Parts: sequence; structure tokens; C-alpha cells
Amino acid sequence: MSESALNQAATFAAIASGGLLWILEGAMPFFKGRRNRLRHAIPNLAVAAFNAALSATLLIGSLGVLAWVRPHWQGLRGLFENDLLASIALVVGYDFWMYLWHRLNHQVPFFWRFHRFHHQDEAMDVTTGFRFHPIELALSELLRLPALMLLGMGATELALYNLLAFPVILLHHSNVALPERLDKALAIAIPSPNLHRVHHSAKREETDSNYGSLLSIWDRMFGSLRRRDDFVDFRFGVDERL
Ligand SMILES: [Zn+2]
Ligand SMILES: [Zn+2]
Repeated sequence: MSESALNQAATFAAIASGGLLWILEGAMPFFKGRRNRLRHAIPNLAVAAFNAALSATLLIGSLGVLAWVRPHWQGLRGLFENDLLASIALVVGYDFWMYLWHRLNHQVPFFWRFHRFHHQDEAMDVTTGFRFHPIELALSELLRLPALMLLGMGATELALYNLLAFPVILLHHSNVALPERLDKALAIAIPSPNLHRVHHSAKREETDSNYGSLLSIWDRMFGSLRRRDDFVDFRFGVDERL
């Protein structure tokens, strides 16, 4: 698939999975009795529209840097002769960077100042998956450059990552009530909705866990996976903070 076809597919996957999850949240909500869903969604989607334009602009600069580096340095990609294997390795490697970056956003007070905007949503649903502070996005774009160079990522692998990650990220933010066994089965591979609910708890010791974006393996490998037996007495948001 070409880079532009992958980008179109990623945009379509985000819109289609977002729309489907929004409908399912109405039909089978995990936390019931939510009113004014639209009023809650509008600011999150307005931020998303601004961020989409900002990301697209910053990405032009990043891709320019990567294209300039590529003839001199292949990165991890250079170790693979097979294109498919290279793409898989790069997508997995980039997801590891996303895990580290998310963890840094919680552990470095300067980064948390912007990342907490994502956590301040007290009624997490699929639209929270689009809610990020624009400065967090700008910092992320800048600071991921060394990781992208190390891996040898290009526009195609980034588009492939987005295609895979967007639906997963929207699913784990959604307020859809999945059967518990299905949630647990999903959690073997990806951060499931129940795992990401724990991440959005108002209690700091729960917030600082389950950092995965596409794959849940990193939380398992680095001891940051945390479950809850139930969601009685559970609250979204941010209690105390720096
Ligand atoms: Zn977080
Ligand atoms: Zn989140």
C-alpha cells in the first residue's frame, strides 16, 4: 500500500471506529446514566480539529528531517532485507517509544503540566481519545525525532502505525461495556478499555500505570500493568497534582 493510501485508510479508520464506538456507547454504556454526551464531546472534538491541523503542519517538518537523514543513516530498518518484517519491527519499535514517552509525561512534572489536560476529562469516552494539549503534541513531535531516526521510520511506517493505533486508542478510551472475558482477552495484546480506565482514575497510584498505546506488552515487561477487580467507587479525573 502506498503512503497516501495508508494515510487515507488511517483517517477513515479513526472516523469510522470513532463513529461506531460513539453509537455503541449510547447502546451499551459501561458507566450508565450519562447525559449531555454531545455537550461533553464538542470541546474534545474542537481540540481534535485544531490538533489535526497542528500535527499535519509539524509532520511536514519532521518528514523533511527524516528524508534528509535517510541517505546517511538507515537505522533499525537497515538490518532487514524483507520489507514486511522491517515494517513490523518498526511499528513495534515505535510503539515502545510511545510507551516511554507516555511514561515520561507522567513522571516529568513539566510534561505532566500538559498531559494532565488529557486526564482532566471526568467523563472519559471515545472523544477523550482525541483530547490532547496542543503543546503536548508539539513536544511529542519534536522529541520523537531521535527515536524515528534510530528506527529508520518514514512516512509509510508512521501512516501504518496510525492505521493500527487509532482504532485501538479510541476503543480503550470508549465507554462501551465489553463482556469482561472479551476485555481480558483483548488485554493480552492491546491496552483494553478496563486497563485504560484504570489509567484515567483520579487516584495517582492508578493513573501512573497502563501506559501502552497499541500493545500491552510494554506494561507487562516493565511492571506498570495494573488491574482493578471492579469499578465501584471509581472516579475519572485528576485529584492532587503538582
Ligand atoms: Zn496518561
Ligand atoms: Zn487516555
